[in-house]
Amino acid sequence: MKTAEKKFARVIVNISAEQLDRSFEYKIPEPLRDLMEEGMEVTIPFGKANTERKGYVVAITDTAEYDESLLKEILRINEKAVGLEGKTLQLAAWMRRTYGGTMITAMRTVLPVKKKIKESVFRTICRVADVAALKAQIAKLNPVRYAARTRLYEALLEAESIPEQMVKDKLQVSAAVLKTAEKDGIIRIETTRQYRAPQAGKQSEKNRAQLSEMQQSVVEEIRREMREETPKPALIHGITGSGKTEVYMELIAGVIAEGKQAIVLIPEIALTFQTLMRFYARFGERVSVLHSKLSDGERYDQYERAKNGELDIIIGPRSALFTPFPQVGIIIIDEEHETSYKSEKVPKYHAREVAEYIAAREHAQLVLGSATPSLEAYYRAQCGQYRLCSLQARYGGAQLPEVHIVDMREELKSGNRSFFSGKLKALITERMVRGEQTMLFINRRGIAGFVSCRSCGFVVKCPHCDVSLTQHRDGKLRCHYCGHVEESPKLCPKCGSKYIAGFRAGTERIEEELQKMYPSARVIRMDADTTKSREDYERILSAFADGEADILVGTQMIVKGHDFPNVTLVGAIAADMSLHACDYHATERTFQLLAQAAGRAGRGQKRGEVVIQTYMPEHYSIVHAAAHDYEAFYREEIGFRELADYPPVCHMLAVQFYSGHEKAGMERAVQVAERLRSMVAPEKMQVIGPAEALIGKLKDIYRTGLYLRSADTEQLIRAKDLVEAMQEEQRGNSDVMVQFDMDPTGAF
Ligand code: ADP
Ligand code: ZN
Ligand code: ZN
Repeated sequence: MKTAEKKFARVIVNISAEQLDRSFEYKIPEPLRDLMEEGMEVTIPFGKANTERKGYVVAITDTAEYDESLLKEILRINEKAVGLEGKTLQLAAWMRRTYGGTMITAMRTVLPVKKKIKESVFRTICRVADVAALKAQIAKLNPVRYAARTRLYEALLEAESIPEQMVKDKLQVSAAVLKTAEKDGIIRIETTRQYRAPQAGKQSEKNRAQLSEMQQSVVEEIRREMREETPKPALIHGITGSGKTEVYMELIAGVIAEGKQAIVLIPEIALTFQTLMRFYARFGERVSVLHSKLSDGERYDQYERAKNGELDIIIGPRSALFTPFPQVGIIIIDEEHETSYKSEKVPKYHAREVAEYIAAREHAQLVLGSATPSLEAYYRAQCGQYRLCSLQARYGGAQLPEVHIVDMREELKSGNRSFFSGKLKALITERMVRGEQTMLFINRRGIAGFVSCRSCGFVVKCPHCDVSLTQHRDGKLRCHYCGHVEESPKLCPKCGSKYIAGFRAGTERIEEELQKMYPSARVIRMDADTTKSREDYERILSAFADGEADILVGTQMIVKGHDFPNVTLVGAIAADMSLHACDYHATERTFQLLAQAAGRAGRGQKRGEVVIQTYMPEHYSIVHAAAHDYEAFYREEIGFRELADYPPVCHMLAVQFYSGHEKAGMERAVQVAERLRSMVAPEKMQVIGPAEALIGKLKDIYRTGLYLRSADTEQLIRAKDLVEAMQEEQRGNSDVMVQFDMDPTGAF
C-alpha cells in the first residue's frame, strides 16, 4: 500500500466547536509534507489581502476537494502550540490517534459548544435565620409531611448559601416551598444577573474534618508522590464508608492553597446531594457541578468561569475532564470501576486514560478511588505503575454488614417456588416490625423478561435489533433498543404450541409478589420504566430517604452510591443472573455489584444484613463478595484473565463494522482480517474473528465485530491506522462504516 502523500490540509482559524464545520483547504508545500500532522498550529495567508494568520490543522488529505489551482499554500508550521488552545488541540490529536475517528469528532468531544446564556438570572438561597432558630424550626416540623422543607433546612445548617439550581435539582425542593421559607423569614433569595466572581481561597475551616490516622497517612503518602518528578497515579482502595471523600477534600485543599485547580469525576448516578453538600460546605462557591441537565449555554458558561479563574473545583461526569482550567493540580476519579467512564460515542475514550494523559502533561496528581477497583487499575497497581493506598476500615469503626448466601436450589427442593427464600422473608418481616427499610434488587444488566415457547424453545425477538423483546404489564412486547412494540403471541409462531409465555423475573413481578406477601407494606419500584428522566430518579430516591416507603425494589441502579441510614437489609434476588451476560467482564461486574451492595446496608447506627440469593452459591464472585474480600477475588479473576489472555493482561481493540446490507460489513471485516493477518506476525498481534456482533442488527444496521489482541497498545494503534487507511481507499464505494473501541467495557 502506498503511503499517504499529505498534499492538502483543512485548517481552521479559531479553535471552537462552531469553526469545525468552517475549515479552509490549503496546499501543503512539498518540504512540509513529512512533518505535517493533524493538530498542528500553522501560519496561513488569509482573506483577500492574504494577511498572515494562525491556523490549526484538523485534517490532512491526498486529494483536494476544491479546485487545486485556486488553493493557497500553508506558509509554515509554528513552534509547538502552547496556551489553552494549543493544549486543547494536542489533547484532541492524542485522542484521535489513540481511539480513532476524525480530528473533528475528537475536537467536538473536548470543546464545549459556544452558546451564551440569554439574560440569565442566577439565584442563591441564603439563610437568614440563625442556627438556633433554624434548629427550633426543624424540631417543630413533621418530617414526613414536610419532608422537602426539612431537607432544605437541614442543608442550610451545613452551608449558609446554596445555589438555587442545586436546591431544586438535587434536593427536590419546589418553588412553593422556597416561597414559604422566604415568607417565614428563614431564607432570602438573592438574584444576580451573573455569577458572582467568588473570592479565591475562601475555604471554610469549620467544615474541615479531623482526619483519622489512617486517612492522614494516605494523604501524606499521596502528597509525597506529588512531590516526585513524575508523580504516579494513586489508587485508593477503600471500602465504602472508609472516608475516601474526606481524603479527596484534604488533598484538594492543599492543591488550591498552591493556586491550582481540581477536577473531580463522580458518576452522575452517584452524585448525591449529600456528597455535593460536603464539597460545597467546605469550598463554598468556587465549586461548580456539571451534569447532564445543563444546557449548552450553561455548560459553556461553566467552562468560561473555569478559564477565567473563577472556579477551583469542578465536579461532574467524564466530560468534566475537558474543563479548561489554567493549571489543574489534581484529578480525582471516584468509583473508578464504573463503566460510565467509558464513552460510547466515537472517540470511545476511557476517562482514566485521558486523565492519565492530562495529569502527565500538567504534572498533576491523578487519584483513583474505589471499594472494588477495576481489574485494570488494580493490575497496574500490582505492576508498580500506580501507587496503591488502602483504607481498610470504616470511619469511626462502623461495622460491615453480615452477609447470608442462600442456595435457591435448596429452596426449590423444599417446595418454595417464589422469588423469596425463607431467610429473606423472615428478615423482611423483621424490618417491617421494627420500622426499618429494605432494598431489593435484581441484577439484570443485559438480561430482560423475554417470552419463550416451552415446547420448542422459540424466543420472540425484535425484527430490527436481534434482541429479545420484553413483556410489559399491559401484555405488549417492547424492544428496549428501538422501541418496537407488538402484541404477545397467543400461539407460538414457530411450532403452534400454546405454551408460549413470559419468563418474567422483572422488578414488576417482584413488586407484585411482595405486595401479596405484605399487603400493608409501602413499596416503591425503581427501574428503567419508572425513571424516564433524571427527575424521576431523584424523586424516587428522596421519597425513599424520607421514609415514604418500607421497601425499594429495583434493578442494579438502586445499589450505586446511596446512603440510607434506615436501610438495614439489602437483598439480591437472583445474584447470578448477570454471570450469564455474554462478555468477559461478567464475573467482575457481578462481584462489584454484590460487594457494593454488601457495603451499603447499615451505614447508620444500626448494623445491616445482606441476603444473596443464588443458584451458584460456590461461585468465587459470590463467595468473595459476601466475605468483603476484594484481594481474594482479584487473585482468582486475574488468574482467569491470564489464562484466557484477556485485558488487563493484554490489550484488545474491537473493530466494529456497520452496514445497511447484510453481507457488506462481514465481507469487509473478512478482508481487513486477512490483510492484518498477512501483515503482522501472530506472536505480535492476534486477529480474532470476524463474527456477527452479539447484537447482530440494531435499527436496521448490521453489525460485525473483529477483535485484535496484543500486549502492546502501539501495535494496536498501528493496526487501527491501517484499517483507517483501508477505509479511505474504499471511500465512496461502499456504505461500510468502521468504529474502534480500545479495551471495550461491554459486549458489542
Ligand atoms: P467513602 O467516600 O469512602 O464511602 P466517606 O468519605 O463518605 O466514605 O465517609 C463515610 C462517613 O464517615 C461520612 O459520613 C463522613 O462524613 C464520615 N467521615 C469520614 N471521615 C471522617 C472524619 N475524618 N471525621 C468525621 N467524619 C468522617
Ligand atoms: Zn414453539
Ligand atoms: Zn429493536
